[in-house]
Amino acid sequence: MPLELVTLPALSDNYTYLLHDSQSGDTACIDVPEAGPILDELSKRGWTLTEIWLTHHHHDHVGGVDDLLAQYDAKVTGAKADRHRLPSLNREVAEGDAFEFGGEVVEVLDVSGHTIGHVAFVLPESGYAFTADSLMALGCGRLFEGTAAQMWESLQKLAALDPETLICSGHEYTQANARFAITIDPDNSDLKDRIKRINSKRDSNEPTVPSKLSEEAATNPFLRAADPAIMAHLDMIGAEPVDVFAEIRARKDRF
Ligand code: ZN
Ligand code: FE
Repeated sequence: MPLELVTLPALSDNYTYLLHDSQSGDTACIDVPEAGPILDELSKRGWTLTEIWLTHHHHDHVGGVDDLLAQYDAKVTGAKADRHRLPSLNREVAEGDAFEFGGEVVEVLDVSGHTIGHVAFVLPESGYAFTADSLMALGCGRLFEGTAAQMWESLQKLAALDPETLICSGHEYTQANARFAITIDPDNSDLKDRIKRINSKRDSNEPTVPSKLSEEAATNPFLRAADPAIMAHLDMIGAEPVDVFAEIRARKDRF
């Protein structure tokens, strides 16, 4: 049985996630845009928060940590590289580290690009990857600190995970991402089908995340920079995938 996963909207377009192990009663929260929705959900379910995992230092991912810690004695995990700009950490992690939660291994990947020091938390057994502002549904995070090459390398690490992995990303940006994706990959029938599903979900105010990695591989233009149809559409046949990725990212910034 996979660990129980709860997806919670927060602030205007963020997501936070709860991960619960019914055996031990341990509950982790991944990113804390604000405490309110998390505190409400914990009390509704009768869960005690034991851990907080932070992907990166941006305020919309850490802003509610102090308010959570005022209620729960939770252990805080985040990137060692970002300890100077994250809330105070009880566990500092880096690429290749692993720790245990709910009887499962949690692997840490450095997925720099959006920021330098952004990490992802991967649970291979349950099949979850908490990617925040690295790989997103039909998108990827804007390059605030890293280069296109760094983000491309980060995306390759995530693309190598089990295709069934659920990508738990940080924002509801999927409809806007879809409007852009179709300009890069206009003949992709999987993408067209996915856009219909996305629009109907949003019409009924349902989250479009998490999304399956296999679906991202088939439809997310930022993962598909090596695809011949995309290279042809961008007039970049024969170019390095990293350069195609950089072009797609630059076009998204101007979109
Ligand atoms: Zn961010
Ligand atoms: Fe964010």
